Formats: sequence, C-alpha cells, structure tokens
Amino acid sequence: MGLPLYQMTRSSKPLLLTFLFFGCCLFSLDAQILKKPIPDKLIILTFDDAPASHYSVVAPMLKKYGFEGTFFVCEFPPNSKDSTLYMNWRQIQALDQQGFEIGNHTHNHANISKLTQEEFHAQLAYIEHKCDSLGIQKITNFAYPGYGLNTQALVFLQERNYHFARAGGSRAYDPLTDHPFLIPSWATNESNKTEIIQALDQAKNGHIVVLTIHGVPDIEHPWVNTPIELFKEYLDYLKKHDFQVISMGGLEEYVDFEQAMTQLRPDYSKKLNN
Ligand SMILES: [Zn+2]
Repeated sequence: MGLPLYQMTRSSKPLLLTFLFFGCCLFSLDAQILKKPIPDKLIILTFDDAPASHYSVVAPMLKKYGFEGTFFVCEFPPNSKDSTLYMNWRQIQALDQQGFEIGNHTHNHANISKLTQEEFHAQLAYIEHKCDSLGIQKITNFAYPGYGLNTQALVFLQERNYHFARAGGSRAYDPLTDHPFLIPSWATNESNKTEIIQALDQAKNGHIVVLTIHGVPDIEHPWVNTPIELFKEYLDYLKKHDFQVISMGGLEEYVDFEQAMTQLRPDYSKKLNN
C-alpha cells in the first residue's frame, strides 16, 4: 500500500529541498577547489633526493615520452658533493632549463618533524636561495624527507607561501578531501611493480595518482632503487594507455590551492608515509 498522493507530495517536498540544498553546496565546493574537473588518467611524477641518475637517465627519458615531472632536490648527506652519486647544482639548473619543475626537499634531507620553526625555515630557504641565484623558476612545492611531518610543518609551509606538499601513504590523491600539504603518493622500488601498476589504474573518478621515484638506479639507497628497465616499463605503460603525466606544478591548472587550504582540514588519520 502506497501513501495517498497528497501525503506523498507533502512529505517529499522537504526531502527534495534538502537534496537541492546539499547538492548546491557540494557543487559549489567542487567549483571552488577545482578550477576544472580532474580528468581520468592524470598522473604526477615526482623524483626525490637529486641522485645523479635523475639528470643522466630520468630527464632524457621523460623528454622522449613527452612527460613532465617534479624533481624534489636536496643536498643529500653525507655524499652530496660526489657528482657521481648526486646531481650538482648546474645539472639541477639544466633540468629547470629543460622545462622540468624543481621542488624543495630541504637543504640536507632533514626530518622536519624534529625542527624548530627557525631551523625549518633555514632548511627551506637554503634551497630557495640556491635556485634563485641560478635563475631557476621560483619554488612553490615541497616533499617531506622520509615522510616526516607534523602539524607545525604545515604552518611553516604556509608561512613561506608553499602551494602543495607531497607525503606518502600509498593511496590516490583526492583534491576534494586531501589537504594540499598532505598529498599522498606511492613510492616505487624494484619489487613493487604489481602494486604500482594497480595504483596507476586508480587515476579516475576525480582521483590523481602521484608517484615518488628515487634513483633510476639508486646506488646509495637500494631499498628505493628503480632499475632503468622497470622505469621504462612504467613510461611505456603510461604512454600506451594514454595517461596524462604532469608535474606537481601542473596541479595548479586543476586545483585552487588557496581554496583547498581554506576549506579542507588536514586529516592525520589517513596514511601519510610509504
Ligand atoms: Zn627524500
């Protein structure tokens, strides 16, 4: 037995209004944080720690495939001056001149969750000034060394006008729920190919997949080594399946970081390290 028609109309009206109200709220939230809809198959490639192979192997391969990427650089202790292991600043400058984005990974790969405000600012400023002195495009994005972070770090990043910061977490980035200073990523190594391929396929329904890649190969840190052949397999996969590969800076085309920062609360209950 259904409700008499007059009762149904009366009872469904508030329901309809409720739907309209929340529907409009959701729509306007989307419209404010998102400058335009996130397309499926949107991938961000990020490269950490400035190993020499980023200059000699990764950049030429990205160019060949027509992909963008962000290099989060630091002077990795204790061997940062060894240019057989790490890029020198001229090579980092060359990446910028080739059109790649340079991001901040602190002066010497500091665990920023243990730093005072002054120490953290000094860690950021060193890389900013170095880039500035070499004519490298102004740095706006950051990656947490070793995925170490705390609530204070987010405040410091905002004080220095950063736009986006990348963490870990092995999950897809949802610009409508993930704070722009807590962007999750997967990290590649030589044995997690299946996981990474499955991850790439999560770049849909408004989600973006961010990869963290260390040396290709990584001589000093074998636990985050990505062999050249495997890296090539990933690039082939992305090309073959028509993925769009952008840098962290490329996010600006889709995400209004100021709106996102105002509207989204940092959620530390989500996984943030790899
Ligand atoms: Zn690192």
